[in-house]
This record gives sequence, structure tokens and C-alpha cells, in this order.
Amino acid sequence: MVAPLRNSLLRQATTCLRQTQPTPVARLSRIATIQRLLSTLAVLEQREGKLNHSSLASVTAAQRMGGSVHGILAGSNVKSVADEAARVDGLEKIIYIENSDYDKGLPENWAPMLVENVKNGGYTHVFAGHSAFGKNLMPRVAALMDVQQVSDITQIVSEDTFSSDSPKIVTIRGTAFPSGAAEGGSASVEEGVDPKAPCPTEWVSENLAKSDRPELGTAARVVSGGRGLKSKEEFDRLIPPLADALGAAVGASRAAVDSGFADNSLQVGQTGKNVAPQLYLCAGISGAIQHLAGMKDSKVIACINKDGDAPIFQVADVGLVGDLFEKVPELTEKLNSQA
Ligand code: FAD
Repeated sequence: MVAPLRNSLLRQATTCLRQTQPTPVARLSRIATIQRLLSTLAVLEQREGKLNHSSLASVTAAQRMGGSVHGILAGSNVKSVADEAARVDGLEKIIYIENSDYDKGLPENWAPMLVENVKNGGYTHVFAGHSAFGKNLMPRVAALMDVQQVSDITQIVSEDTFSSDSPKIVTIRGTAFPSGAAEGGSASVEEGVDPKAPCPTEWVSENLAKSDRPELGTAARVVSGGRGLKSKEEFDRLIPPLADALGAAVGASRAAVDSGFADNSLQVGQTGKNVAPQLYLCAGISGAIQHLAGMKDSKVIACINKDGDAPIFQVADVGLVGDLFEKVPELTEKLNSQA
């Protein structure tokens, strides 16, 4: 369908939905109508040819909303990644832009490129992961399109979530949605529009923290340490060995990061990473609201704290009141002896 016509129909359908009190059957039929008119472009982030989890979670979120879902990726040698992405369930079309200028994910040239492709496809929604890249890119896209940006979506509730203002530029919390599997899909693959916008910034270098442990944002188990560890030496002595005994990623509170006990990339919370593992085990963390914001969706929360009144016990499924300098090595030793 031609984009302006589809957007006009979507506006009419949404206005109609708001103006009347529908019967359940009429409501379902109108939801179906709106869903048919929706079309989402999901930004697919990749590194060394591998699609990342938050992109695949964006695809799942887009599918839950209904309508057609397309994916877009850009960089050098991305045609093969586009072919791989075409196998992701639920994607109808993959748009790729073969240009090494997009390799480093600089938002200054990605944003105008994305805008061109959004206009070209007449999309009603644009989704990206709430990753460093997505957080950097999407506000610029929204500004260029003069629309609002919606951040860190954790749930698709109903069609009412989305007004008729279009397009909606949205970032998706990766831990809130499962990633779509790269199997069973058969999307078409085609080249997108490349405006080759000049990029005022220059990529200089990156420092990647290499680790054999699972990636914090997607790990099934996380062991975090807080200010209660007292020093970097104690953090390193106690937290990574416990994480390794559990096959877990290492996390930290902001107080631990600010005190220099742990790297900034390990911070969990409102201004750090959002995690939702099967098990979140923390020691020496009080449970401040900003920390809880990043881990409260964990399936099982376990904590060790010497203060039985610490707020972390209010959200913990399992809590141990005790001295972490005693309890953490004991637990690590028991886990290792059972391995
Ligand atoms: P503390 O609050 O100092 O807690 C230390 C805990 O260790 C205490 O409960 C203590 O009883 C326990 N303890 C001490 N010794 C032992 C021992 N020997 N054995 C067992 N337990 C012991 N925080 C985050 O974590 N992530 C964020 O993203 C984040 N973003 C923020 C954003 C804003 C805008 C602001 C204002 C704050 C933010 N914070 C964030 C900071 C947050 O408010 C807290 O200050 C921080 O989480 C506290 O970290 P903590 O629990 O390690 O330290």
C-alpha cells in the first residue's frame, strides 16, 4: 500500500477507535484493521556478522504489535548478514545498505540514512534495541523526523499504546522480549536507500573489555558486588570466582563502579545495564531503587548482606544475612566441590 494512504487510513482507524465505545467483537475487528495497517522497521545491529540479542528482541516486540515487520542493516559485507537475517522468523523483508561508512555505528550518518529508508517505506514504527547504539541513534532519528521518541519499552500492551502520530521511534529493552530465532523465516532481501550523508564525527578507536564470561546483558546468571566489598582487591578476589563457579556474568552496583572496584561496563541499574537473568545473586548491595531498576525482572533474586534491614531483602527470593567475606568464599567452595 502507498505510504501516505496507509498512514491516513491508520489515522482514521485510530481516531475511530478513540471516539466510540466498541463492543468486544467490534473492538477486536478494529484492532485487526489497525494491525494490518501497521508496519515496523527494526534496526538490526550486528558485530562481525552476528546479529545481537537486542535487535532480535526488537523483532519479537514488533511482531507482538502486529502488522508487517522489516529489518534494516548497514555496513560493509552486510549482504551475507542480510541473508542470515532473512531466516529470522516473522521478518518479511530485509533492507541492507552496503557501505563501510556505517561500520562503526556512528549515529551522525546512520540517522539520516535511516530517515530516508523510513520515509521510503512509509513505516508507522521504527524499533531499535535500547543498547548504547540504539540510545544514541533513535533520538536523532526522532529529531530529524520531528516526532517524539519512546524509550526502553518493556511491554506491548494494546493498540492504544500507539497514537496516530507517525512514525513512532522506539527503543526496546532487550531483556523484556525473547530474541527471534534465525530459522524458518524466508524474508525477501533488497538494497535500501543510501543518502551518503556527510559524517561530522570521526571514529578513532574502541577499547573492548574481553571476557570469557557470558555477556552481562543477556546472561542467564549474574553475580554482582557492591560497596560492601570494600576494595577492588576484595571485589576481584570474591566476585569473579563465585561468578565462574555458577557460569555467570559479573555485575556491580554504581557505588562499586564509582569506587573503582569494577569497570563501568559492569554497572547494573538505571544508568547501567538492564538484566533479567534466571538468577541474580548479589553481595554487599543495599538495593537502592536505581539498582533495582536494572535487575528487578530477574527470575530469582538472591542476596548476601550483613544488614537484615537492607532494602534488597524486600525484593529477594532468597536472602542470607551474614558477612560476605565469610559467606561468599564458602559458597564458591561448595559450588566448586560439587562440580
Ligand atoms: P551501599 O548502598 O553503600 O550498600 C552497601 C551494602 O553492603 C549495605 O547494604 C551494607 O549493609 C552491605 N555490607 C557492607 N559490608 C558488608 C559485609 N561485610 N557483608 C555483607 N554486606 C555488607 N546505583 C546502581 O547500582 N546502579 C545504577 O544504575 C544507579 N543509577 C543511579 C542514577 C541516579 C540518578 C542516582 C541518583 C543514583 C544511582 N545509583 C545507581 C546509585 C544508588 O542510589 C545507590 O547509591 C547505589 O546503588 C548503592 O550501591 P551499593 O548498594 O553497592 O552501596
